[in-house]
Amino acid sequence: MSKAANGDAPVFAIVGRPNVGKSTLFNRLTGSRRSIVGDEPGITRDRIYGNVEWNGHIARLVDTGGIIPDDEALIPTEILRQARVALEEAQAIVMVVDGRTELASPDIDLARLLQKTGKPLFLAVNKIDTEALDAGAQNFRRLGIKNLVPVSSEHGHNIGDLLDEVFAVLTFPEVSEETVEAPEEEPAEGAEKDTPHRTHGEFQQHETRVAIIGRPNVGKSTLLNALTGSSRAIVSPIAGTTRDAVDEVIEHAGQQLRIVDTAGIRRKGKTHLMAEKLSVVMARKHLEAADVAILLIDATEGVTASDATIGGYAHESGRSVVIVVNKWDLVTSKRTDGKPPADRAIFEQQLRNTLKYLNYAPVLFISAVDGTNIHRVLDTVIRVAAERRKRVSTGQMNRFLERIDFQRAGVPMSKKVRIFYMTQAAVAPPTFILFTNRDVKLHFSFERFLENQIRQAFGFEGSPIWFKVRARN
Ligand code: GDP
Ligand code: GDP
Repeated sequence: MSKAANGDAPVFAIVGRPNVGKSTLFNRLTGSRRSIVGDEPGITRDRIYGNVEWNGHIARLVDTGGIIPDDEALIPTEILRQARVALEEAQAIVMVVDGRTELASPDIDLARLLQKTGKPLFLAVNKIDTEALDAGAQNFRRLGIKNLVPVSSEHGHNIGDLLDEVFAVLTFPEVSEETVEAPEEEPAEGAEKDTPHRTHGEFQQHETRVAIIGRPNVGKSTLLNALTGSSRAIVSPIAGTTRDAVDEVIEHAGQQLRIVDTAGIRRKGKTHLMAEKLSVVMARKHLEAADVAILLIDATEGVTASDATIGGYAHESGRSVVIVVNKWDLVTSKRTDGKPPADRAIFEQQLRNTLKYLNYAPVLFISAVDGTNIHRVLDTVIRVAAERRKRVSTGQMNRFLERIDFQRAGVPMSKKVRIFYMTQAAVAPPTFILFTNRDVKLHFSFERFLENQIRQAFGFEGSPIWFKVRARN
């Protein structure tokens, strides 16, 4: 999981009506094979985001397929509303049409709407498998999109031309070997050195931004209402009533918590399939604005593939995570479906197996409806928010390092590195620089071993830990 590719890489989007070949183009561009092409119920395994490498640069690609409704009655009023979240973060848009069909009015409407975004727009006229079909592609000039590239996603024709054009307008981050990027040094940083344990008072002005993320129907709005003590109406899905991001600020244990984009949490998708995809896009968006994510899981469904996808994004984003299993009331002794009552330990075991990478995240079992354990949610959020901003001094770190027996790391001889010293370069998330004898990527079992040792010694509950390696010579 490359951080550069996920955090800082520019994003571009594929947009188009169903069946024009978006999935095929996505696979071609990302070099991945999505197991599912088309809108099958197995959509949860579908990938919406992928990395595209071209001429030494990496960009993120988002496929809005399935987010844009194929119901023509919904075009054009509803269409951008749904895709907007995905398009917001995009620096450029590739509209895909089927070059073997006639130009149709929904394409014209879509092109017009996409032009309104003001973002660089490219038209990929797909399914131009042979030169003979090229003339047909030119009909699509009538859409008024200057940058037209006839392509064949299936055969790979002209894909390079398309990428040349798109990559020319994307802005790539400067990659500097010497700087440690990514983890945000927060404004109040100066006051946060060295002392892991602080009193409430010192934290007071620090606001923690919280995102509630999860699949449709896991109970995000219900939890939000329970936490904020309000029960506002769900944002109407009628066109034109969408509000922009609305945050809700609450106080808990003397701390300020800002729940980000509560409008987005309450907004409901059109169909189940669309809502499912949209929930992944929303999760990514909400993570960007958050310090701590509450990853909500539905106890009645167990951990699903979509939960794992969303959890994966949370992990990669560097945010802290609290896993909250909701609707626990439905699986306890009062169960109405005839199944035996669920066991917390077994549930947690299964959850940990599926969400291995989130092993640092605490797990809570709640009922947002009857209020069971609700108070623990905010307590835990505050606790992990503090852990996330904790700083270990270089002195402490080196004393710790001396005590570790690296023989136990189980790393192949050829992958062994010697650590001369180690320092925490950033908080949120805690990021450590290892000064080593060799300039190699850490072997994963070495990294895991070191991470476990650091957690045993210093905690950092709920937060991922990032490492950077610097060869010292
Ligand atoms: P999506 O609904 O826009 O994601 O479209 P898909 O990627 O699922 O493609 C729809 C159909 O068009 C599939 O049967 C693909 O095999 C086919 N298709 C996609 N790209 C091409 C292409 O370049 N040439 C031809 N001949 N067929 C294509
Ligand atoms: P969202 O789509 O994630 O925002 O989910 P909602 O908050 O709209 O909840 C979906 C459904 O699950 C609603 O019918 C809720 O009443 C129900 N629900 C949410 N939390 C709980 C819970 O803890 N227990 C039970 N029994 N039902 C819940």
